Amino acid sequence: MADPVVLWFRQDLRLADQAALVAAAGEGPVVPVYVLDDEAPGDWRIGGAQRWWLHHSLAALAAALDEKGVRLILRRGDAADEVAKLADEVGATRVHALHHYEPWWQSAETALGKRVDLCLHEGTRLAPPDRIRTGSGGRYRMFTAFWRALKEQMPPPRPVPAPDRIGTVARPPKSDRLADWDLLPTKPDWAGGFSVWTPGEAGALEALDDFLPKIDDYDVARNLPSQEGTSRFSPHLHHGELSPATVWHAVSKADARHAEPFLRELAWRDFTGNIIDQFADYADSNGRAAYDKMPWRAGKEADADFTAWTKGRTGYPIVDAGMRQLWATGWMHNRVRMIAASFVIKHLLIDWRRGEAWYWDALVDADFGNNAVNWQWVAGTGIDSNPFGRMMAPLVQSPKFDAGDYIREWVPELADVGDDAIHDPHGAGKAPAGYPAPLIGHREARARALDAAAKVR
Ligand code: FAD
Repeated sequence: MADPVVLWFRQDLRLADQAALVAAAGEGPVVPVYVLDDEAPGDWRIGGAQRWWLHHSLAALAAALDEKGVRLILRRGDAADEVAKLADEVGATRVHALHHYEPWWQSAETALGKRVDLCLHEGTRLAPPDRIRTGSGGRYRMFTAFWRALKEQMPPPRPVPAPDRIGTVARPPKSDRLADWDLLPTKPDWAGGFSVWTPGEAGALEALDDFLPKIDDYDVARNLPSQEGTSRFSPHLHHGELSPATVWHAVSKADARHAEPFLRELAWRDFTGNIIDQFADYADSNGRAAYDKMPWRAGKEADADFTAWTKGRTGYPIVDAGMRQLWATGWMHNRVRMIAASFVIKHLLIDWRRGEAWYWDALVDADFGNNAVNWQWVAGTGIDSNPFGRMMAPLVQSPKFDAGDYIREWVPELADVGDDAIHDPHGAGKAPAGYPAPLIGHREARARALDAAAKVR
């Protein structure tokens, strides 16, 4: 009888296209484990909304394993330590896992590798970040060149199905109870609106089926927040319920003209992995050090403005709609994520890291690389980013991408405002009582932001 092998799940909560599972199942009885490692201070391991997702995703994974007669073991603590201890308990010398590129996972992999025979497999990105190299062997810092190089290595390997049979140990080791982890909010339960989601691998595959017929319209519809024109794969991809290779191969069946715009967006996820693999502190430090001198606003007034932004009470309907969609559902449309992020950074002149932390806590798809790289991209502080001076004007963006339906859905007090006033009800003199006046006018904000940026040299 072969020795047991440990399968270490992290943000790869699936059975299909799971190279670590295939390898483990081929070697001996499998002991699958998930470790809740959420107590390290000051890092970006897991946000508030994500805890809700994680609960349901783990429940789905445990049920799927159960159907195959295998018990998912839950432990809490330092991940490397807990996995090593578990291996010891069950008499396993080998651990299989997918490779992850967040800095804390890389450290955990190094620490665990010193205690067990750790076999790392690919499968969390379209390609391992360090395999995408420039002609002279360097790493990419700009998306467009990265995408060109990534494409040359595509397609990714074909996804492999879940093994039919997974061997198991006669006596599974002890496990925490998922309910005892208190991942779900209770007082208050702010996750009522999250019922739009179905976390778990089956929900991810359903999302894939729902999206594929829409692929031909993606390039246009992806910019219209009132439509379900994007895939909404992001929380599934973040938690690894769907492999990027599965998405690539499914979408590539469409006409290349229609598939390409989507695959390019999907490749952003690989690009952000490539950035955090090179710059581990990218979520905390300006990619361009000159911005360390930026005179961000701070203090009571800035705090009050920031709170108004988080609550969707800035007086700019498109920003408010986005921030309320985020709070209600744990997700915000990409176009509006950009507008709302630009607003807090440039109109309110608040350090991008405060906004980044808010999204982190509120998004079900909060992802270390995607969040940091996009915030720095919008802020103009990033290695690859828009210049700071390029401010998104909400009153220009809003009518361009929304006929008003998105705003009316998420800012109900504006439901009866007509098309002539929906984007700027105060400016049109038609704001209903209770809808706040803009925190600052666009011109004034622009002058203040440019003035501040002039201090950065
Ligand atoms: P689709 O348009 O259907 O795209 C398919 C997939 O491609 C997405 O699921 C995602 O995995 C990837 N993708 C698409 N756009 C981007 C992008 N710009 N950067 C990286 N990957 C991308 N995305 C996150 O997954 N987590 C975050 O924490 C996150 N924070 C963001 C913060 C800001 C300020 C901004 C502007 C964007 C952020 N994004 C983040 C990127 C993007 O908004 C979401 O990935 C997208 O809205 C998810 O919806 P979708 O799955 O329907 O996307």
